[in-house]
Amino acid sequence: MSSSHPLDLRLPTPGCFADPERAGLDADAVFDGMTEHLFFTLGKLAPTASNHDLYMALSYAVRDRLMTRYLASLEAIRARPHKTVAYLSAEFLIGPQLNSNLLNLGISKDIAEQALRRFRIESLDQILEVEEEPGLGNGGLGRLAACYMESLASLQVPAIGYGIRYEFGIFNQLIRDGWQVEVTDKWLKGGWPWELPQPEEACFVGFGGRTESYTDGKGNYRSRWIPSEHAIGIPHDVPVLGYRVNTCNRLRLWRADATESFDFYAFNIGDYYGAVEEKVGSETLSKVLYPNDGTDEGRRLRLKQQHFFVSCSLQDMLRSLGNRGIPIEEFPNHWTVQLNDTHPAIAVAELMRLLIDEHYLDWDTAWDITTRSVAYTNHTLLPEALEKWDLTRFRSLLPRHLELIYEINRRFLQQVRLRYPGNDAIQRKLSIIDEDGGKAVRMANLATIAAHHVNGVAALHSDLLKRQLMPEFAEIWPEKFTNVTNGVTPRRWVALANPALSRLLDEHVGPEWITNMELLTKLEERQHDTAFLEQWGATKLSVKRKLAGYIHRQTGVLVDPSSLFDVQVKRIHEYKRQHLNALQVITHYLRIKNGQAEGMAPRTVIFGGKAAPGYYMAKLIIRFINGIAETINADPDMEGRLRVVFLPDYNVKLAEQIYPASDLSEQVSTAGKEASGTGNMKFAMNGALTIGTLDGANVEIRERVGPENFFLFGKTETEIMELQTNGYRPRQIVETLPELAEALRLIGLGHFSNGDGELFRPLLDNLTGFDPFFVLADFADYLRAQDEVNQAWTNRKQWNRMSLLNTARTGFFSSDRSIQDYCQTIWKAEPFPVEITCDVP
Ligand SMILES: *Cc1c(COP(=O)(O)O)cnc(C)c1O
Repeated sequence: MSSSHPLDLRLPTPGCFADPERAGLDADAVFDGMTEHLFFTLGKLAPTASNHDLYMALSYAVRDRLMTRYLASLEAIRARPHKTVAYLSAEFLIGPQLNSNLLNLGISKDIAEQALRRFRIESLDQILEVEEEPGLGNGGLGRLAACYMESLASLQVPAIGYGIRYEFGIFNQLIRDGWQVEVTDKWLKGGWPWELPQPEEACFVGFGGRTESYTDGKGNYRSRWIPSEHAIGIPHDVPVLGYRVNTCNRLRLWRADATESFDFYAFNIGDYYGAVEEKVGSETLSKVLYPNDGTDEGRRLRLKQQHFFVSCSLQDMLRSLGNRGIPIEEFPNHWTVQLNDTHPAIAVAELMRLLIDEHYLDWDTAWDITTRSVAYTNHTLLPEALEKWDLTRFRSLLPRHLELIYEINRRFLQQVRLRYPGNDAIQRKLSIIDEDGGKAVRMANLATIAAHHVNGVAALHSDLLKRQLMPEFAEIWPEKFTNVTNGVTPRRWVALANPALSRLLDEHVGPEWITNMELLTKLEERQHDTAFLEQWGATKLSVKRKLAGYIHRQTGVLVDPSSLFDVQVKRIHEYKRQHLNALQVITHYLRIKNGQAEGMAPRTVIFGGKAAPGYYMAKLIIRFINGIAETINADPDMEGRLRVVFLPDYNVKLAEQIYPASDLSEQVSTAGKEASGTGNMKFAMNGALTIGTLDGANVEIRERVGPENFFLFGKTETEIMELQTNGYRPRQIVETLPELAEALRLIGLGHFSNGDGELFRPLLDNLTGFDPFFVLADFADYLRAQDEVNQAWTNRKQWNRMSLLNTARTGFFSSDRSIQDYCQTIWKAEPFPVEITCDVP
């Protein structure tokens, strides 16, 4: 191969990373890499290799090509320290890795296919299909963390994502008789080629036990924690390569293992079973992801998981300073620690404990380091989602942390007393300890008190956070509160998910859009170009054809690609109001049935999403949608006019097929309830028009695309609040809306449940009783907006123009912009380009 190189590059020459034999990005090099891995890594012969074998071989060949950049990135930071972002998140919903790494490396589909053809594989898609995605997240929050990791690397900002390597991720969803059935997600069963276990960098974590006070050699009064239980965290590193740059950051996921010392001790005293139990217990720690999206289950094992990954991560950060000989006081200059929601908020107490108990710093120094390092992102205002830990349970698991939290709280409340003399109510409200009812630790208060910045995730949400959830905190620390509107990575959500659109953008905007989405405004020049608008529509149609094929294979339902694809995909939750959409579908159906559907364009209404296994109403909504789908799809009158499908097992892989193929994006949450949403952004970038409420980032999407290119409906957050205080009577609404009354009557008669009038009774009672998410209050206006959608769709040229303007004007929602915001206002972190020495070919 490259015998012309002056050095043998495989020798550990300092600062030299290139291995030319595994660095080539052309088809021959990729083929050679695959051949070698098939034979030596996988123990397979090429002629008998399965698609899975070829997927593994290609993945290893691609991984080899990441290694130069990955090691160079690590070495760059080691050699010349630079502030690194530590993104702490209990969830990272990273999706399939192969295609993303091919793109970011610069191995085109064509090159990959040239290599694959030599194994008699015609298309890359055949190989991508067999990849299992790690479902290490529930939905939006975990996916956001993944988009942020990709943008950090693409912007060449040194970063490490810390999380948990769940053995079982979010469950796989099956639909049986219209109901959701949960199946364990065994994503590791075929082997997962993207992780590098680092057992030598394992960390110990304690749990339980007691604290003890003692006086140290200098006469200082100190406390020490004697845990009763331990676990070991083994890091599993996933390389995260930026787009066409050398920066390759890491996602460091901790797997829990049993401790050996304790095994041996118990074994020696004859308690073999006790030792085995501890082993089983500590391995269970990273066994499974909690499948609740938003709601706080408050389970002991979940707190254990949180402390486990946070403790490992902070120890890892401190160790890296130690390894580089950097004094611990310098911590805030080298690490900026972002808490993705309160799941990692125990970091505040754990960092204090590590600094005080293990590194012997005094309180003030430790608190200064902590508060200069940690920032907190709030993701929800819903009371049922704010994490609270029962005090007794907290103490039994983390006794030393509770002591530290009491001291943090004591000092903080002292400040509050000075500011609001005699105001007991404010003290009770701001205290980390909830004294009402059963005592509890409020994680949002802990995070807010310690963080140097607290941010919401969309303008409206950040505003409500300040005005409604935390007005007193915002008054004490006005400069602490800020907004960073969420974003999504255009590499995955446009370039990979929508190659047809990407080609169009490359041609008309130039390929730079992929790292500079604001350039898409250039498309506006084409908004009156009839030929271009037709091409725009034809591109969308081609993507819809693919999805139609998938829908047919998955559900057996034939859908017309030229019909309006009206899509709602996201976790199933009452606040997201899939049932509002379902009621609209029934109205549509009734209008066709009653001959009142003149001018109503053919529609395909597509749903997808998982419900938390313990969330009864959400599961009933899935059953409801499937009941409606069954009745409508079987009715000959609906042929060619209306189709309804529920696509099972919504995940990243499926999402990549759905967003690009959508005409209409349903963002219909109750105003004030959705913090931001990111699905709304993926739809709009891919040219879907939004029908939505003034909630979360919908507000900003509408401002940017222009109100004439957005179908707005529904009560504002203020109007909802007023309804709530003035007494809301959903039953009265039913009386004034005959179409709604008729829909509810049919449901009650069992029209969508094979004559079983009881099946959806709880849903009906919920809606006509309290209707906690104001579904009926927004119904009439929603129908009005849906009629507007129908009108707009009938003028296809105008629709295509609106679609084009949605893509053209949503560059702001690139996660590159979000990360730049975080870097400037919160992290004070900067790009650090990585040089690769010794010539990579
Ligand atoms: C984007 C995304 C979400 C978040 O969707 P929202 O509509 O913002 O709730 C959830 N799950 C997956 C797989 C996604 O890709």
